[in-house]
Amino acid sequence: MTIRPLSELRLLAALLLWGTLWAGAASAAADPNAVLASHVREVFPGAERAGPVSGAPPAAPVYTDGALAGYAFFTHQVVRSAGYSGKPVDVLAGIALDGILTGARLVEHHEPILAIGVSEARLQSFIAQFRGLDVRRPVRLATLAQGDAARVDGIAGATVSSIVLSDAVMRSARAVARSRGILGAGAGAGAAAAATLDTEFHQPADWAALLADGSVARLTLANRDVAAAAAGAASPDRPQDVFIDLFAALATPAGIGRNLLGDRDYARLMNGLEAGDQALLIAANGLFSFKGTAFNRTGTFDRIQIVQGERTIRLGADRHRRLDKLPGAGAPELREIGLFTVPAASGFDALAPWRLELLVPAADGRFASFGLAMRLPDLYRRGAAPDSAAAAIEAPLWPEIWAQQSGRVAILALALVALVLILFLQDALVRRVRAYLALRLVFLSFTLVWLGWYAGAQLSTINILTFAQSLLTGFSWDFFLLNPLIFMLWSFVAVTLLFWGRGIYCGWLCPFGALQELLSRAARRLGVRQWRPPFLVHERLWPVKYVAFLGLFALSLHAIETAHAWVEIEPFKTAIILQFAREWPFVLYAAGLLAVGLFVERFFCRYLCPLGAALAIPARLRMFEWLKRKRQCGSECQICAVHCPVQAIHPDGRINPNECIYCLNCQTLYYDDHVCPPLIERRKRRESRPLPHAATIAPSGG
Ligand code: SF4
Ligand code: SF4
Repeated sequence: MTIRPLSELRLLAALLLWGTLWAGAASAAADPNAVLASHVREVFPGAERAGPVSGAPPAAPVYTDGALAGYAFFTHQVVRSAGYSGKPVDVLAGIALDGILTGARLVEHHEPILAIGVSEARLQSFIAQFRGLDVRRPVRLATLAQGDAARVDGIAGATVSSIVLSDAVMRSARAVARSRGILGAGAGAGAAAAATLDTEFHQPADWAALLADGSVARLTLANRDVAAAAAGAASPDRPQDVFIDLFAALATPAGIGRNLLGDRDYARLMNGLEAGDQALLIAANGLFSFKGTAFNRTGTFDRIQIVQGERTIRLGADRHRRLDKLPGAGAPELREIGLFTVPAASGFDALAPWRLELLVPAADGRFASFGLAMRLPDLYRRGAAPDSAAAAIEAPLWPEIWAQQSGRVAILALALVALVLILFLQDALVRRVRAYLALRLVFLSFTLVWLGWYAGAQLSTINILTFAQSLLTGFSWDFFLLNPLIFMLWSFVAVTLLFWGRGIYCGWLCPFGALQELLSRAARRLGVRQWRPPFLVHERLWPVKYVAFLGLFALSLHAIETAHAWVEIEPFKTAIILQFAREWPFVLYAAGLLAVGLFVERFFCRYLCPLGAALAIPARLRMFEWLKRKRQCGSECQICAVHCPVQAIHPDGRINPNECIYCLNCQTLYYDDHVCPPLIERRKRRESRPLPHAATIAPSGG
């Protein structure tokens, strides 16, 4: 092979750089906080405001009536949700503190099936079904639901995408709920049966992080919030002023207490606790004092109390220590801070949900109560075991999809078995040229119509880039098993690469390859003149596809989204997945390639296809040589080389395994004693031999 001129490389590098900048700009992601601000009320009806997305997994606290009411989250940020296409799927959803989903909205997807056949209204109505679902229960499509699973109606014709969306919402909701303590003890019968409080776990966290992950809970009340419930308690003149900004946290776990109090005060606190005692930190700003003054007389705080289930626990003045400030990073100035000990004898369970009640005295002597819901995040639980419902939600998704696609799986399995038979019986088949050509025509039609246009099973360089990324960031079979047909094809290609090289996919199973070949056949039938580039030019164009693949691969290591944008060099999505129902520049590009292919057979496969290049790289590893050659091939005869649809045969007769698509054309010629000169000669010699004398074969007794 000749060396590519430097200028060609420079041009490619420049194009790549330009494309990177262009695609990078095109794929710039929207700011999640801005998206959240625009849609928070759709996914969390009644939300007053949402805090910033933060914590692990990322979620934004949502407030109603000044108090934390739940969280909003993006599924792609939480579980890296990806669609059937392998590209991101992102749903913005909300979850209330009782574990009920408050709403969901699809904010990003690249699912071709949803883009072409499903209206926006149908998509959003599918997503809207998640409102009101309990994250503790598994959710299944109505057609697949069993047992006590909640049912949602799938999108007609897009069942797998429906399953993927459903899984993204439920897995993310569950991850957020667990991290924020929403699925803590009491969430399910067995959820926390074996859990204990982890007082030792500690990682540095500032005030904002502790607020974001639910370690510190907050209740903000304005004067107007209190005035209606407790007449005379708040000034009616300034309704918007903060009546109280109340914070509460269980200080016993080191992950909370040490971060709020600092090492020295936390050690002092823990030394003073008896076994089973818990420490609560309560602090506030605002006009109202949560401590009041009555505790000086009665020994008990009358404005705060703990409510857990049927139990109400009053806090005693003798178990209280006043603090002037919190030394923890980022902690605000607070007007009132108290550290309270809750004795073990009170029956308080730190792992179970509870409520801090703020009792505001009204002018008539009665108290109005405002609750601050408290749930300990899972970070501080040791040995929590998921209950059976949770396990069902965590169960991998792919078996469901394989079951749902069992018909398609069976058809593809049969086709692959048939292809293996063709390959093993190739010598017998290629001797019957007409039968073989008819069989190939049927197979290519199946590949194009059923595999490509109907089932959408077109391999792409995206699959390779995604696979490589997953090796770097954490490989999971579950993800690759989500698309049964693509998984089967890749498995088949991986095995057959060792036996036959790249050709089995390119020659038989690639829908776009089949489309090019069928169109080329039709063109030749109609008398369109074919152009065969001189071998020198042809050979110099081969490397372009390798550069395309290596460029995409390098780009994916730097910015996978940009690489995904550049994979559009493959017209597969336009011509096969979307069947040309796309914006005109894409259609023009795909149609242009097909048009050139009418004159230069498989033009795209020969010079541009990055997937073909990726498959060609390991093609030389193949263990067997199945294509037969004669001594005369190349030296005395060029017929096979001339008839090879992709010019994979060198002028010296060698077959280039990187370029061969295993169409077996050359093998039909190899056995054809009307085309192959050595065989013609042998046949003529045979035919010119005189027949044995009739007398010698005369029937006896004649
Ligand atoms: S070279 Fe590309 S388009 Fe051609 S058959 Fe192979 S994978 Fe398909
Ligand atoms: S004609 Fe022969 S060498 Fe050319 S692609 Fe087909 S099988 Fe390969």
